[in-house]
Amino acid sequence: MSEAPEVKRVKLSDDAEPGVREELKDPEKLRIESILADEYTKQIAMIEVCVGSVADSKHLSKLVPALAKILPLTSLQHLKRVNRDGTIILAPVEELNRKLGDGAENETTAVLLQAYLRSEGLLDKSLIDGLCAGMKIVSVPATQPLLRWQYDLVNSVWPCKFHPNRHNEALYTNTLFDKHEAHQHRQIMELCLWLGKQEKGRPIGVCVNPRLGSRIAAIGVGRSEQHPVWHCPMVLIDMVAVSQSGGIWNRLPSTSTGGPLREDGFHYGGIEPRYERLVREQYGELFSFGAEPIRNGGTTALARDESGDSDNLIKYGPYLCTGYDVYLTHEPCIMCAMALTHSRVRRVFYHHLNAHVGALGSLVKLHTIKELNHRYEAFRIL
Ligand SMILES: [Zn+2]
Repeated sequence: MSEAPEVKRVKLSDDAEPGVREELKDPEKLRIESILADEYTKQIAMIEVCVGSVADSKHLSKLVPALAKILPLTSLQHLKRVNRDGTIILAPVEELNRKLGDGAENETTAVLLQAYLRSEGLLDKSLIDGLCAGMKIVSVPATQPLLRWQYDLVNSVWPCKFHPNRHNEALYTNTLFDKHEAHQHRQIMELCLWLGKQEKGRPIGVCVNPRLGSRIAAIGVGRSEQHPVWHCPMVLIDMVAVSQSGGIWNRLPSTSTGGPLREDGFHYGGIEPRYERLVREQYGELFSFGAEPIRNGGTTALARDESGDSDNLIKYGPYLCTGYDVYLTHEPCIMCAMALTHSRVRRVFYHHLNAHVGALGSLVKLHTIKELNHRYEAFRIL
């Protein structure tokens, strides 16, 4: 970050791809697609292992515990050691070669392994000989399947462990949202795109509190032509901060109603009065506005209404974008996707792909990086 970004690059990172600014015709026809980590969408990688054959299955009760001691399958805990046909995993090929590497050159792995197993003294000679006589190399799944479709594929190759996860299955099949929820997400995206049209195609971001009937906490508009960092999500995050009595770029004058904290108990600092007016003119009372005001511990009336939910937003009040959902007309760039991570956002929905710089599916899937201390779910509404 030593050099100032070139104007051209900044423009790219926040603008739509040419020709993708089509208007939403029918919000009900929009699809909502989960943007999942590759590990959920790609086939499980395979690894080569040496397997031996067991002539009589009654020998398995001796063989399995002995092999667990001599050749533990530390990296293949997700696999059952014995296949349905009675073949048994001895060790990954690479590991076995490493272990037996000092043998004479003209000796086969089977002969070396035979000698090695005998030297351990845990198995009878006849068992070892039988095991090594039919030794062969097969490919088995290198990691545990995460989704049912992966399990079905690899389990037929070698029996493996699988812990089904309903939430992830629903993400994969794009069935996470029921009709009502999907309708709400589409409506907010339609609002974003409509606002974008009013702003001559500028990227628009809307931050909502999903626990309060999608109440709009903040609206942000990209202005990267005015400042290299004023990409839409950055402005939006700052507007959320304003709604929590912070923010560095968007200090608004008090509204005519006597300040951002209104009689309804919500903070309107994250919404430029002009946008609230525009939305109300277009959509009537379809959308509600205002962020929960910050508080110093304890519970509020709002929190008590949500009995049983131990979400941090309830416990501690708003903190950055914790518990909030963000809707963006455009896929965020890496800077913005990372800012959303730092802001602890719950979910991000976007419409237009940013093929060259998008960080939630196009270029990278930043929201899925395990090493980051916060992750959010990302969806494309298209
Ligand atoms: Zn950006």
